[in-house]
Amino acid sequence: MSEGLVEGEGFAVDASVVKADANRARGVPGTEVIDWRQGDGPSRAVQEYLSALEEANPAPSDDVESATPPKRISLTDPAARYTAAPGGPAFFAYSTNYLIDLHAGIIVDVEATPAHRTQEVESTKTMVDRVEQRFALKPKRLVGDTAYGTGAMLAWMVQEKGIDPHVPVWQRPPRNDGTFPNSDFHWIERSDEYRCAAGHALRKERRPFKAQRSHITRAGTIIYRSSQTDCASCSMKDQCCPNTPMRKIARSVHEEAREEARAIANTPAYKRSRRERKKVEMLFAHLKRILKLDRLRLRGPSGAHDEFLLAATAQNLRRMAKWLVPVSQQAVTAPT
Ligand code: SF4
Repeated sequence: MSEGLVEGEGFAVDASVVKADANRARGVPGTEVIDWRQGDGPSRAVQEYLSALEEANPAPSDDVESATPPKRISLTDPAARYTAAPGGPAFFAYSTNYLIDLHAGIIVDVEATPAHRTQEVESTKTMVDRVEQRFALKPKRLVGDTAYGTGAMLAWMVQEKGIDPHVPVWQRPPRNDGTFPNSDFHWIERSDEYRCAAGHALRKERRPFKAQRSHITRAGTIIYRSSQTDCASCSMKDQCCPNTPMRKIARSVHEEAREEARAIANTPAYKRSRRERKKVEMLFAHLKRILKLDRLRLRGPSGAHDEFLLAATAQNLRRMAKWLVPVSQQAVTAPT
């Protein structure tokens, strides 16, 4: 930071999967009841896994039962996640998550997580908060791929942290049956409703309820419905909702943050951010091809953390050496 390699203006986040030191043959179905006390007792990796479970679920509850078990659990390193790679057999893995400063590509934080998209994305919050506390650095913009563009994540960036999301908004694939897309419906903030092409309202409530309802679904959306009577006599029904008596639109409770991200996506700064995102991808390519970290040597979350942190430190030292050579030598040793 004192040499000007870290500016704190723009950060990028991404994750890369690294194989765990756990043979896939030593995996059992996630639904199996496992007695971890076998042999000489649980290993350090198993103890870490059991303590994390206990911390997340201090007492048996409905949540434990309803939680979806992983497809397979490794008896060697149960915190590693069984993950599928395109074109190859599934394996147990962790993810290394990098938060980098875009100026010189310095890694400002690292977090090890099981190789699972939700946990990778959630680690962004940990890293951004930690960098803010440790170095008093909070970026103006955060660059990431579509995985980081969920409504909840965008709302965290925009509303909680005041960071511009330079992230593609995650959205459902558009309708492919030729009917009106949701974007054809006009949102009217003041009356909390959509208007369709025929000028009719789609509302979340069509009759008053005694007790107030939030109408928020489990997926974090509010459903807006047209009136069955309006649709029955509408000449555009076949292009709008041919198979249902009314048209429905699911609006995310984080729609404001999503709209802000969509507006940013039309700016020249966003195009620059998309190009700069390659810096974090290049670091992962370097990690695997040059540093050869394609399989962990240590087990458990703390083993993964130590290896990822050391590798990132090595990458930062290398980057610093390249950037901080005397000016006279820069022509022959240009920073990459
Ligand atoms: S079918 Fe219903 S929602 Fe669709 S345009 Fe006609 S009135 Fe509006």
